This record gives sequence, C-alpha cells and structure tokens, in this order.
Amino acid sequence: MADETAQATPDVAALLGAMTLEEKAALLAGRDSWSLQGVERLGVPSIVVADGPYGLRKEKRTEDVTLVDTVPATCFPTSSALAATWNPALVEEVGAAIGREARAEGVSVVLGPGANIKRTPLGGRSFEYFSEDPLLSGRLAAAWIRGVQGTGVGASLKHFAANNQETRRFSIDALVDERALREIYLASFERAVAAGRPWTVMAAYNRLNGVYCTEHHELLTGILRDEWGFDGVVVSDWGAVSRRAAAVAAGLDLEMPGSGGRTAPELVRAVVAGRLPVEAVDAAAGRILQLVARTAGARTPGHVYDRDAHHELARRAAAEAVVLLKNEGGLLPLAAAAQVAVVGAFARVPRFQGAGSSMITPHRVDDAWTELEALRDGAAGLAYAPGYRRHADAVDEGLLDEAREVARAADVVLAFVGLPERDETEGLDRPHLRLPPSHDALVEAVAEANPRVVVVLANGAPVEMPWADRVPAIVEGYLGGQAGGSAIARVLSGVAEPGGRLAETFPRRWEDNPVHELPVGPRLAEYRESVYVGYRYYDSAGVDVLFPFGHGLAYTTFDYADLTLSDTVIAGGEGLVVTLTVTNTGHRTGWEVLQVYVHDLESSTFRPEQELRGFAKVWLGAGESRRVDVGLDARAFAHWDVGRGGWIVEAGRFEIRVGASSREIRARAIVDVAGDAATGSEAATSPEAAASTARPVPPGSPAPAAYHDLAPAGTFDRGAFAALYGRPLPANVIDPPGGYTLNTPLADMRTPIGVLLLAVMRRQARGFAGGDEETPLGRIVSRTVPEMSLRMLRLMSRGAVSERMLLSLLLLANRRYGLGLRTLLRAAWPRRGPG
Ligand code: BGC
Repeated sequence: MADETAQATPDVAALLGAMTLEEKAALLAGRDSWSLQGVERLGVPSIVVADGPYGLRKEKRTEDVTLVDTVPATCFPTSSALAATWNPALVEEVGAAIGREARAEGVSVVLGPGANIKRTPLGGRSFEYFSEDPLLSGRLAAAWIRGVQGTGVGASLKHFAANNQETRRFSIDALVDERALREIYLASFERAVAAGRPWTVMAAYNRLNGVYCTEHHELLTGILRDEWGFDGVVVSDWGAVSRRAAAVAAGLDLEMPGSGGRTAPELVRAVVAGRLPVEAVDAAAGRILQLVARTAGARTPGHVYDRDAHHELARRAAAEAVVLLKNEGGLLPLAAAAQVAVVGAFARVPRFQGAGSSMITPHRVDDAWTELEALRDGAAGLAYAPGYRRHADAVDEGLLDEAREVARAADVVLAFVGLPERDETEGLDRPHLRLPPSHDALVEAVAEANPRVVVVLANGAPVEMPWADRVPAIVEGYLGGQAGGSAIARVLSGVAEPGGRLAETFPRRWEDNPVHELPVGPRLAEYRESVYVGYRYYDSAGVDVLFPFGHGLAYTTFDYADLTLSDTVIAGGEGLVVTLTVTNTGHRTGWEVLQVYVHDLESSTFRPEQELRGFAKVWLGAGESRRVDVGLDARAFAHWDVGRGGWIVEAGRFEIRVGASSREIRARAIVDVAGDAATGSEAATSPEAAASTARPVPPGSPAPAAYHDLAPAGTFDRGAFAALYGRPLPANVIDPPGGYTLNTPLADMRTPIGVLLLAVMRRQARGFAGGDEETPLGRIVSRTVPEMSLRMLRLMSRGAVSERMLLSLLLLANRRYGLGLRTLLRAAWPRRGPG
C-alpha cells in the first residue's frame, strides 16, 4: 500500500499553456456518462468516476446509464446505518474499503458521500444521507472522505446544497433563510470540507434562494472556495447544468455527464463574445488537470482487494449500526435455549439497500435466517413463517394465520418487517411514514398470539410504529448492506453488541413534523421552519416523539458521573473540554455514545432548545470506568449573525448537557462564556467574507415571534417566514403557458406541444425501464420524467439535440408556432433552411 497517497505534482500551468481554448473548453464536460475528457496529445488521461455513498457502483460501460448493469462490489450498510454507528473511525475504514474497490476497478473518483441534512424523514434519499444534525453528518462525511482519499481515489461531497427533497428536484427552489442555511444546511458541508478536504464537490440539481446551485456564484465560489478554502473540482450533478457559461463563471468546473466535446463550442463562443472570462475557463481546466494528477496513484496497475475482508468489515459496520430501540424485560439477547419463531419474509430475503444511483450489485448477500441457523447449529429450536408476500403490500390472511401459529408455539418471536425496495428510492419522496399494511398486520397478529415479540426493522429512514406499545422489544437494523442479515442475527443472539444510536428522530406521526404542511412545490420549497430541523424542533416545541435523536440501548447499562469543564472560556477560537466518568454498570461489554448538547441560556436571538456539539463513543467491559473527554470548539456556542454576515459567540451563560439521547440528559453544568464581542474571536468570519454574504435583513431586526415561542406543528406561516427570510417570497406557482423556459418541468407544460413532448419522453422512459413501472428502476424513471425539462433532452440525446432544436421546441410549447417551425427547420437543415 506504499502508493496509497502518492500524488504527482503536475505542472498544471505548463499544461494549460500548451492547450488551446477549444481543448480547455472540451475538458470542462465529460467524455461520456462516467469518464472525463483526456488530452491525448499531452498525455492527460481520461479518468473514470463512479457512484456512490455505500459501495462502488460502476456501470460496466462508461457510455451507459443503466442503473442496474454494474460491476459486483461490496454493499456496505447504507449511509443512515453508517450514521447510526456514531463512529467516524469505522466510517473511515468503510471509506478506505470503497476506495480500494474503486482503485481495483480503475475508478479515480467515487461520487459520495452525501452530506445533505434530513430535513424531513420522507426524503426519498434518506438512506443515502447521514443525519438531521450537521455536526454528526459533517464529521461522518469527513471520515468517509478521508478513508476514500487515503487510497488515492477522490471523493465527491454531494449534493451541494439544500437538496433535501426528491420531489421536483431538477427545478425546485429551496428558500432557506440565512441562519438555517449557515447553521444547518451548509454546516454539514462546511465541516466535511474542513476536516475531509474532498477533491471534488458535486453541485446539486435544485435552485437555492432563486439561483440554480450550478450557477450559484456565492455558493460555489464565495462560500465554498473563498470562505472554506476548497481547492478541488466542482462537478455538476448528472444533468444539473442549466446555462453552461453562467455555470462556469459561477465556479462550476465540470459538467457531467458529457458528450465528448460536443458542447465545447458553446463555451468557446461565450468566451469569444465576452460573455465568459477566459480566466474562468483556465481556472476550471486547471482544477480538472489537478484532479487528474491527484488521483494518479489510483490508476497505477495491480490494485486488488480482498472480498472476504470487505464482507467482514461490512458485517462489523452493520452490527455496530444496529439500534436497540426497546428491550423490556431483557428479552434480548435471545436465551440460548429459547424456542424462536422467525416471521417475516425479510428474514430470508433481506431488504438491505436503497434504489437509484447508489444501488450496488453485491458479491453476496447474507440473510438472518441462515445465520440464526448457523449460530444454533441447525434449525432445531427455530421455526419460520413468511407472514407476508415479499413484494406485496396487501395483507394475506393465510400467511398471517400461519405466522400466528408458529408464534404461539414459541418462547420468543422475531418479526422481520420494514419497507420494501420500491418505497425507498432516489427520485421520489415517500408519501407517508407508514409500513406496508401487510407488515403492520404481521406485527399485530403475532403480538396477539405471543407477548414476547421482538420487531426487527429493515428501512432506511424513520417509520411510524402504531404497535410500538404492544411489543416488548424493537430493533432498528436499518439497511445493513450485504452482510446486514448476518449482522442482525449476531446482535439478536448476543454474539455482537448493539452499537447504534439514532442519528435522526423517530416521530410518533408524520403530522408531528413541522414540514408536514409546508409546500414542497410546485416552484418553491419554503423552509419556513428555519433552524428547527429534527430534534431541534421536537425538543424546542416539546413534542412527544417515538424515539428521540441519539437514542439506543445496549445489552448493558451505563452510569455518568463527575462532569467537569475545562477552565477555558470560549475566546479567540479556543474551545472547551467536557470531561466525565462513564461506568459500565451491567454484566456485559458494550458501546455507549456520550452526547454533549449546548443550551444557550441568554441568547439575544432565537435558538433551538439545545444542539449537539460533541460526542464520544466508548467500548467498556462490565464494571469498567473511564474518564472521557469531549472537546467543543468555539462554533459550539456560536450562531450566524445575519446583520454582520458572520459567526458570533455571544457573551453569557450556556448549559452543557451530557446525555444518552436528546431526551435523556444525565449530567449538566453551566459555563460562562466571554464571547466574541469582548475577545474578537476567530469564530467570527472575516470582514471580507461577511461583506460577500451579507443579506438585506437590517442588523438587529427581531425575528418574528413564531421563531421564539414554538408551539406544536403548523405554526410557521408564510408571513413570518417572509419576515425572517428578509426578501419578498416569489409566487409558488407553475410557469404559465407562454412563459415556459428550458427549465420548466415537462409535466407543467399544458400546451399541446408540451403534452406531446411529455408523452414521447414517457414512452422512451418506459422502454429504458424494461416496460415495468413497478420495479424500483421503473418507478424512478416514470416519476422522474415528468419532472425533467427540455434542457435535459439535450443531455439524454448526448448532445445530438442542438441548442437551436431545443429553442424551437420551447417556442412551439409556448404556442409560438410560426417562429418555432422556422427555427425547427433551421435546426434540421442549418445551411439550406429559410433565412
Ligand atoms: C444523483 C447523484 C449521482 C449521479 C450519478 C444523480 O442522479 O443525484 O447522486 O451521483 O446521478 O449517478
């Protein structure tokens, strides 16, 4: 592994000097779907990129986007499972393994991790993201990046930024007030950039506060590069570029996928016409050349990896991710002599990953049943009933009866339920938080037959559990990857310890979440809840939850004592060390996660009740005690000062709370903080940066009352949000006929040509998905196409549809038939056409 971090230092300037403008422009878009353009005559190779966040998803041919025809790779636990480990070192190990697989497959950049905040539990890609909390999300993303990049392969931190819903993701405009943006949505990326130093960042599909992320100069240049010091390549999400020249000018280096230089002339024309400074093209080309050089070590021949070792790592990670939500009467781990009924088809055909661009072709897949048998030396003492049909939502009474019967005869029932594949896919959000009726019915049925039921869940995001009070034990296995089945069997049997803690709140009902009645389109997603995301909302509003953020039990118990704080008062960027003694008071070795929350007692502005500012995971033997330090940086006390356009630590008292979840605080102490105003701390942003991000909200304007006194869900109205946002809110309506643009979703085009275009695209898409709209791929494609816009046609045609052709279609869709037809003719016969 001597070459793991080897990087050639290229003479990028010399290369640039030797390239023509046309060559540089060509470099700024891919060669095809998964490879970049090289410069053959100068010896610059074409490098390959591949998804994704929890394993390598490399398409067999770089030209294709099949979503399914991919090389076998290890499917690690999905990101929500990895997050539940609260273990950056373990996530770094997983990252390194993904990096090794990438290298062995000739891949130079892996498109992950996803650091978007889980604004709502309905988000279709929740399984691909870490947490509702930016500290946890940012730290884990940084660890993942360090792991991958330690192997010489680049990472791509995505999707920057505020890409928090799948609904209308190609066009939605996320309206986020400046504090929420800085304190929640950007904070996750900021930490990942600072501590992970990714070589690429992926700009998201959506708009942010009116501007496409791919064209957002303040985001891509002002914040990412100038403020945070990012020195890598900004790549577009696949098909996210709307206006090429504007994107390059804003700081977007690489458009993906590409079409082998076909779109380069547009950039050249923009430079020649003075619409795009040549320096912007040079800078972007230089950064791409630098990426090629940085990843040179990944392309040296002879890289291999050990599939068995990676499977073992996947299993260890999956076991450490298992969250023991409830365990009354010590029902778990299973007693060796217990007669166990295993019900639920997931026990034999597991649900272990999500669908979309992260979907892996695994080397192999473990199931819980086989592992339970192995752990018990055969099936004696085990009985099985499927309970529901693996791919159906409807209740099957016959299967329920059978399940009741095996449940009745057993000492303990393990009920394997969760969300089926088609419920969690990229491209569409879930409509509700419920399990399929057949799964809920199975739990209810076996709970009537036997009081000793353990529900074992497989899902990538929170679900409602209407039966939670009627079962003594619940285990959240998340989507544990290819070894998730054996991992969960080991935890249930006590061969492995449950190491997981929730990185997100499980609400009792979706209606308890403040986002539940906020608009998610058609044009705007209004983030009216501001900083009150996840537990920041539930804890501030006093809403009862099913399982709080940070929750998770062990098979042992822990005691916290002797909380002390270091003398350092927050000043000059220094932090505070929180120390306490944790003791394993039970009879088994186990994991504990100490969570440090900070509560601002004297804030001059609105703040959440408490915020996670540090954590530490410890592994302690029975009876063992340890003094544990958790360091808090100055940012732990800061908030974003909109008037100043920078971070500020206010002088005053803060309460330090150490807990086993956000709702189980076990130790508290007060600290007096000197604050920036007195000390000029580095926590504040530099005046230059402050000027570049300052907003039109006058300094010191009081926030509307709704943000100070939170009442249960539904209190964030548009007027209050508009005042907080500080600018007029645009109308949340679809584009009117005649006002369609190249970005208008096809489904919003209500004119005859618009309707026709959608029908044609739908037909194409059905063919692509093999004609079945009910497979995960079929669902993604059929739901995504209506959200696509005309400009994406160009991409799908790999550049064959010209700019003029697009324009003509747009004119026709806007009912400008004469001009539209003339333009179409000119597009079809450029030389012979009229005029
Ligand atoms: C997804 C990205 C992914 C890319 C390439 C996009 O649709 O949003 O996460 O990396 O496709 O597959």
